[in-house]
Amino acid sequence: MTDRLAIVGAGAKAVAVAAKAAMLRDMGVATPEIVAVERTAIAANWRAGGGWTDGQHRLGTSPEKDVGFPYRSTILPGRNAELDQRMMGLSWQSYLVATGRFAEWVDRGKPAPTHDTWAGYLRWVGAAAKLNIVEGEVIRLSLDGQSWVLHTGEDTVTADAVMITGPGQPDRSVLPGHRQVLSIAQFWQLAAEHERIDAERVAVIGGGETAASMLNELFKHRVSTITVISPQATLFTRGESFFENRMFSDPTDWTGLTLAERRDVMARTDRGVFSARVQDSLLADDRIRHLRGRVAHGVAADGRIRITLHTDRQGERLETVHGFDLVIDGSGADSLWFLPLLGQDVRDLLEIRLNGPLTSDRLQQAIGADLALTAVRPKLLLPNLSGLIQGPGFPNLSCLGLLSDRVLGGGADGRASYSTTRRNNEHQSL
Ligand SMILES: Cc1cc2nc3c(=O)[nH]c(=O)nc-3n(C[C@H](O)[C@H](O)[C@H](O)COP(=O)(O)OP(=O)(O)OC[C@H]3O[C@@H](n4cnc5c(N)ncnc54)[C@H](O)[C@@H]3O)c2cc1C
Repeated sequence: MTDRLAIVGAGAKAVAVAAKAAMLRDMGVATPEIVAVERTAIAANWRAGGGWTDGQHRLGTSPEKDVGFPYRSTILPGRNAELDQRMMGLSWQSYLVATGRFAEWVDRGKPAPTHDTWAGYLRWVGAAAKLNIVEGEVIRLSLDGQSWVLHTGEDTVTADAVMITGPGQPDRSVLPGHRQVLSIAQFWQLAAEHERIDAERVAVIGGGETAASMLNELFKHRVSTITVISPQATLFTRGESFFENRMFSDPTDWTGLTLAERRDVMARTDRGVFSARVQDSLLADDRIRHLRGRVAHGVAADGRIRITLHTDRQGERLETVHGFDLVIDGSGADSLWFLPLLGQDVRDLLEIRLNGPLTSDRLQQAIGADLALTAVRPKLLLPNLSGLIQGPGFPNLSCLGLLSDRVLGGGADGRASYSTTRRNNEHQSL
């Protein structure tokens, strides 16, 4: 039983969970208290200044994949239709109606909103759900008996369960502090300040949607060639047909696939792929080319940044060096970003429960239906690592309504042992 769930970051996932909890509470169902600890502001990563965008670029997924999507709650047998109906009141379309923009959006052909508009939507839901936010950056996570303690510089928050969200920090770079090397955050800061980038040979490290969004911006600047560096054989286009999308909205058949099949689906649809829209609009430009390899390191020499790449060729590791005038490190998103926050007591607990060091693979394979590490108490929910075992939509925006069912309900069918009437403040689940 969880009385209080603390969420690191007041982003899309925290808002979705708070929205579902608020609707359940309105229906008289006892739910845990949700508290988000946020270092900047609600939906900060979707706005200029958050380090991941200038706010003007557009959402890749449909905005109808909003906090309640796919509107197929299973958490409250007998009352799920009513719950979905209530969640519709917090939908993307309800937001447009509430802010007088619905008809225009439809008449314009339902365009993808900018990241900034999406942040506006998340803030609107957060306010409607009365999301409780503690301001501060979580710098350490420790244990106190059966409780988690989240430490910020000034505060501590105690909770029965913790959920980690967000893509990590956008200020990593292959050569920190060098003026010819930009992190994701530095790149977007320049873009937001309308500073023009002027360079002959530019490299963008990373072949995923973060890099795609940066390419979209980079094309407006004065650059002669852009080399995208990624380990994949080429710049793959994301599979976006009904069959692929369906796996993200509805992971029912996911567990029937072998791990190899799941990894294959994720490689085609999620990791290091560009959306068809990006491929159409950008990659036709003859300034762009692809270089296969993993960046080993970078050094400054003779006015250029020399990047050393490792490539596997028929079992042998090949090392090549390439020179650029400007390098933009777009490889920032890291689902293990929270590991340095863990106190030694937490590391010890996790390593004992997981039978070994905290590798990505070990953590991913230990995630249960409630998106928490199965053997660990108090609960540690890691939705960003749950794609492989629970379904590819959980780390992103593809099924936030299902995510909140799993987090609050605790099971693969999302069903909670909730009572449908509140009894003396007695919490019955999670
Ligand atoms: C440029 C870009 C575009 C994207 N477009 C899409 C898309 O179209 N569709 C899609 O499905 N996915 C997209 N994604 C992936 C996206 O990150 C996730 O889908 C979604 O935002 C994840 O929600 P979240 O709640 O985990 O994180 P976020 O919405 O990113 O929120 C994380 C929050 O945590 C806060 N935070 C971080 N560290 C700390 C700390 N130590 N202490 C306190 N607070 C902290 C941040 O300030 C932020 O507010 C995109 C990602 C990027 C970078």
